[in-house]
Amino acid sequence: TYVITEACVDVLDKACIDECPVDCIYEGERMLYIHPDECVDCGACEPVCPVEAIYYEDDVPDKWKDYYNANVEFFSDL
Ligand code: SF4
Repeated sequence: TYVITEACVDVLDKACIDECPVDCIYEGERMLYIHPDECVDCGACEPVCPVEAIYYEDDVPDKWKDYYNANVEFFSDL
């Protein structure tokens, strides 16, 4: 899955939402989240993010690893 990280907080540009072919990017209170089970790893969202908040799960920088769990937890609370 792809993961949205720190840079999205309070930005929520949503350019990624328009690009996602399976509509698996959802809006939270302060950032957007990618549903880990619905994402098909197409990568379309990554280059359109103006703040470069999106990474493939294996490429998330160490300091933002917690955002993988934040994405998972966002959907477990729904
Ligand atoms: Fe959607 Fe593709 Fe981005 Fe996954 S990688 S969130 S399927 S645009």
